[in-house]
Amino acid sequence: MDSHDVIVVGGGLIGLSTAYRARKAGARVIVIDRGPVGYEASSRATGYLSLRAETPTESPLAQMAERIWPTLDEELGYPTEWKQKGRLWAAFDDQELADLKVTYDLFRKTDIPFEFIDTQACRDVIPILSPDVRAGIYTHRSGHANPQRVTQAFAWAFQDLGGVILEHTPVHAVLTEGGSVTGVQTSAGTVHGGRVVLAAAAFNARLMEPLGILFPVAGVRLEAMVTTPMPPAYDVCFIGHGISVRQTLRGNLHANGGPHEWIDVQADQEPAKPNTPIIRNIARRITEVFPVAASLQMLRSWAGIVELTPDLNTIVQAFDNPAGLVAAAGAGHAFGMAPSLGVALAELALEGRTSAPIEGLGLERFAGLGPDWRSVRNWQAGAYNT
Ligand SMILES: Cc1cc2nc3c(=O)[nH]c(=O)nc-3n(C[C@H](O)[C@H](O)[C@H](O)COP(=O)(O)OP(=O)(O)OC[C@H]3O[C@@H](n4cnc5c(N)ncnc54)[C@H](O)[C@@H]3O)c2cc1C
Repeated sequence: MDSHDVIVVGGGLIGLSTAYRARKAGARVIVIDRGPVGYEASSRATGYLSLRAETPTESPLAQMAERIWPTLDEELGYPTEWKQKGRLWAAFDDQELADLKVTYDLFRKTDIPFEFIDTQACRDVIPILSPDVRAGIYTHRSGHANPQRVTQAFAWAFQDLGGVILEHTPVHAVLTEGGSVTGVQTSAGTVHGGRVVLAAAAFNARLMEPLGILFPVAGVRLEAMVTTPMPPAYDVCFIGHGISVRQTLRGNLHANGGPHEWIDVQADQEPAKPNTPIIRNIARRITEVFPVAASLQMLRSWAGIVELTPDLNTIVQAFDNPAGLVAAAGAGHAFGMAPSLGVALAELALEGRTSAPIEGLGLERFAGLGPDWRSVRNWQAGAYNT
């Protein structure tokens, strides 16, 4: 096969936004995916941008993404359905109220403005909220977009620039020689290139093991559904009662939630993504939060594999050994961060450095972590929600 300046492994949003930026900078770029591009977490997400207010190391990259999002329709030439109308976290009982107060304290670690608001103020933001809502945290910052549209937009824009996408081609290994990357081994043969960006979500860990690199990311399952449409009722990102629910441009309520289980990912197989009774709980919770939804029907449901890291923060790493290797993993919120991650990874691949704020997001923070980090940490993956 031809040689490329940059090989991107994984055609989710992180890979596609990296590929788009690198191609736009003039590089010959190929994206290689095990399946169709944009078929995994990125198109299955709810579509929120999290500003990561509780994590000052990660928040600057999220806020960079917030600046890029409104430019994407024009930049890419395709609609993303981005709406920047704010975000509301709400509590509906004593326990949720206590948790909300803890969250509010955490959010004050950055200077992003948040207000703690009462029942009436919550219902002013979302008029269809149940009168049982006790309180909320509101910010006018942040927004949401249509995950399928966004993923498609990046893929098409990359191809419009002459970028190459190779689908249904699992990557089995990163190839190196003399301490530098030389390409990747795929099911269809060797693809040559001096820079390799690994954006294969949880499978990044497997690709880096043979290089002696512990890249701590693992998959968990998250479930989602949309209802039939209802008249436009709200624009903000809603989070509360264990679920996230946005209203789409067409009026559907689009929700995710539920506990998770660890998922082992294989190179050659699409990970199984069954729906379980969790989806019934999500549907019930939607009607508890928005009583009007009781008259809607569940239109579709699905699940997706979310990548998580030990501290639930994004990893961005450029390696000296092997030189030419760059890798990233989101931590369950990379849909929103992908626009700035793409800029950072493309710059790291092409120039070896980036002006994007990635300090503190490298692997050095995991010094001392062992390969059994999942069990040692005794993670309760189910406690996590987007
Ligand atoms: C239901 C749900 C709701 C979510 N909601 C949000 C949200 O509101 N906001 C938010 O920010 N995030 C959300 N997320 C998380 C978000 O989707 C992920 O953080 C993000 O999509 C990760 O992007 P990615 O490109 O790393 O992964 P993916 O989109 O999973 O892409 C990885 C790609 O790598 C490919 N691949 C894997 N192994 C190989 C291999 N060996 N060879 C070649 N290719 C390979 C896969 O086929 C896949 O296409 C949600 C996720 C789910 C499932």
